[in-house]
Amino acid sequence: MSREINTVGVVGLGTMGAGIVEVFARSGIDVVAVEVTEEAVERGQATLVGSIDRAVAKGKLTPAARDEIFARVGFAVGFDALHDVDLVIEAVPEQLPLKQRIFAELDRVCKADAILATNTSSLSVTEISVATSRPNQVIGVHFFNPAPVMKLVEIVRTVVTAPEVVADVEALCVRLGKTDVTINDRAGFIANALLFGYLNQAVSMLEARYATREDIDAAMRLGCGLPMGPLALMDLIGIDTAYEILDTMYRRGGRDRRHAPVPLIKQMVTAGLLGRKTGRGFYTYEGPGSPKVVADELTAPSAAAAPASVQIGTIGVVGSGVMARGIVEVVARAGFDVVAVTRGEPKTTALAEAVRGSLAKAVVKGKLTEDDQAAALARITWSHRLEDLDDVDLVIESVVEELPVKKAVFAALDEICKPGVVLATTTSSLPVIEIAMATQRPADVVGLHFFNPAPVMALVEIVRTIRTAPETTAAADALVTALGKTGVHCADRSGFIVNALLFPYLNDAVRMLEASYASADDIDYAMKLGCGYPMGPFELLDTVGLDVALAIQRELYLELREPGFAPAPLLEHLVTAGYVGRKAGRGFRDHTH
Ligand code: NAD
Repeated sequence: MSREINTVGVVGLGTMGAGIVEVFARSGIDVVAVEVTEEAVERGQATLVGSIDRAVAKGKLTPAARDEIFARVGFAVGFDALHDVDLVIEAVPEQLPLKQRIFAELDRVCKADAILATNTSSLSVTEISVATSRPNQVIGVHFFNPAPVMKLVEIVRTVVTAPEVVADVEALCVRLGKTDVTINDRAGFIANALLFGYLNQAVSMLEARYATREDIDAAMRLGCGLPMGPLALMDLIGIDTAYEILDTMYRRGGRDRRHAPVPLIKQMVTAGLLGRKTGRGFYTYEGPGSPKVVADELTAPSAAAAPASVQIGTIGVVGSGVMARGIVEVVARAGFDVVAVTRGEPKTTALAEAVRGSLAKAVVKGKLTEDDQAAALARITWSHRLEDLDDVDLVIESVVEELPVKKAVFAALDEICKPGVVLATTTSSLPVIEIAMATQRPADVVGLHFFNPAPVMALVEIVRTIRTAPETTAAADALVTALGKTGVHCADRSGFIVNALLFPYLNDAVRMLEASYASADDIDYAMKLGCGYPMGPFELLDTVGLDVALAIQRELYLELREPGFAPAPLLEHLVTAGYVGRKAGRGFRDHTH
């Protein structure tokens, strides 16, 4: 028979512990909350009170419910108060010797049948369990930050955890209104194993001055729909905690270089820049614990203050695919005259039809008036001759993603276009510099990486090569703003910001599936419910196309020579078998019905 869990203990009331106390108390479970000192107890208590009071102020809790919640929580210094709890969750700093010491102590204090759980993110639950005389009652219960908000709990069973203990904790998670996934004891479990390589890589981009903190974060929010950018997320997690997790994952997870903490992280820990909890990390906050970002010396002057250096009247768009179609629409809707050039009459007919169809849809959806629709269409000149671009002020090339083809288009544009015209390529994976060098004017060439569907996605990556002139980047920036999009700047490196950070993560998810650590469903759940991703990695891979993902991953691997970027064999095999995702009716999942 399963045991009743009526009272739980929480050890450590920092970033996670205080939130975990709240989760239990709000579900009607009594809590004994324990810290090392009176001051730490007061800090934990203040976090709980602040959070509950905010919920009351927002009308999500009644004052009576607040009083009941507070009445359920007792605070104490030292472990003696835990002698009668049914389950303890430990949430102290991510250090093995500390956790082992605490578990030995809990083993001594807690009653014989109490379950001892750790909230560790990366340490071995097995190694923690052997510090007790009851390793079969030790389990990992990994909440996500902020614990009251994130729906996922990873339940980590070791080889000796008793099945009844797993069942009891699973039942408890249901009572808490959480979704659980139960997995074996492996470094980083599901979510962190997929998340931390990405976070570390984002920090290395910042460290290499590849892009600014704001641009890296905006790129991942707007390009992938993530709730937070990676650097803001590091600040929320805590830079010290992130360091410990990376360090442990590096040592336990096969010394993957991608988990070796980037030196900047250690420097921030040493300097006391621990993120939100100390009021400063990658960003500066209003005060310790505040989520509100304030300007600091790294804040870039607002883009509105930068003068737009080039007057753009007419824009040429070359191509007839889905991206070209979206860009023609975006540019015409923003009030620019457009010359849309394809490779021939039939392509032009199809392109014009597609743009008209998309504009008509926008009218039906109420996003565009009929007058604006007519005006946008009237601004477009349809052509199948590149020579018609002889008088435009800027060209956006969006032809097939093949280097020889793009180079040929640019060589032709170089002959045709007026001097000083900005020549932009929408390539998502080719080196912009290779395309630029097909012209005699590489200083005027820039990358403008739009996201599909262009009329919807707010992000454009503005890619400068080592030959791009600052005026060219400024003109591209002014254009992106005029299109109502957010531009982020980065250097000309494979995958730019978004794809370079996204695809290795997707590839890692495939490797995790390949290793039979978790099912595709559990991995998708973990990322959606633990990290707030809009889609899980397998849903996303099936949508983007496994063939596309494989091609991008190959490019990243070839350019950066990072062993961890080698495409997962399972991805290669599925592509070879024709299981390339939704468009083929079959990818990681069956989409035929
Ligand atoms: P934190 O540094 O914010 O808080 C740790 C708390 O533990 C501090 O308040 C400290 O005073 C207290 N503490 C230290 N020694 C203690 C002792 N002997 N007895 C009682 N309390 C003690 O750390 P955190 O970010 O909350 O991380 C705690 C655990 O949760 C770690 O294992 C971490 O990996 C895990 N975790 C963290 C996150 C996150 O986003 N921060 C998410 C999931 C899991």
